[in-house]
Amino acid sequence: GLSKSFATKSGDQLQALDDINLSIRPRSFTCIVGPSGCGKSTILRIASGLEKASLGQVLYKGDPVVKPGADIGLVFQEYSLFPWLSVLDNVAAGPEFAGVDKQTRHRDALGFLNMVNMAEFKDAFPHELSGGMRQRVAIARALANEPDVLFMDEPFGALDAHTRILLQQELLSLWEMTHKTVVLVTHSVDEAVFLADEIVIMSARPGRIQDVLTVDMSRPRTRADK
Ligand code: ATP
Ligand code: MG
Repeated sequence: GLSKSFATKSGDQLQALDDINLSIRPRSFTCIVGPSGCGKSTILRIASGLEKASLGQVLYKGDPVVKPGADIGLVFQEYSLFPWLSVLDNVAAGPEFAGVDKQTRHRDALGFLNMVNMAEFKDAFPHELSGGMRQRVAIARALANEPDVLFMDEPFGALDAHTRILLQQELLSLWEMTHKTVVLVTHSVDEAVFLADEIVIMSARPGRIQDVLTVDMSRPRTRADK
């Protein structure tokens, strides 16, 4: 029953989300697709506790989500790495905040960088990396907090087609390895069909869920854009 309105400058209300009802299965890979402005990011922001709903609520393991917590990792399109920290320290930043000792968090961070093929760049700084590399580091950083759920808002939107396909494949094998619950927002139906076992299709003005499709995960994965 989630709805969200924003106050506009002219004093009107803009209804961004209207009565969204959705449940995310544990360990599923859900993609949310829909036109620009239909409220995809708003859903992720509310579901991760960054934004308040106007009506309705989001439950995580039965409890209302009211603020961001360690259970949910976030990866955004504008991979916001800390520019003043090395790649290794970026990935270790969350665990440091959580009080993990330096040796352990650096060892673990290196493990996550290995998963995304970025270990050799551990001492580099974000400005020295390409967009695809930074996005890999952002994924490693989200994983380093060991969240059960990963929310990704158009994580590959800014990348060239080749890098995008590479990272989609890496993400899929990561998901198969870790079996985290992933919710990924994308413009691309093709990306959703390639990645998801559940596809949520939204329509705009106000943002509503139009359809939820379940995809057979044992299907052969072919791509139209390859
Ligand atoms: P895109 O695909 O372009 O990223 P989206 O589906 O993620 O779009 P949202 O960013 O969730 O869409 O925005 C949904 C609607 O809510 C839009 O009309 C947007 O203008 C409005 N909106 C989002 N955040 C705010 C805000 N903080 N203040 C006012 N309006 C907002
Ligand atoms: Mg968005």
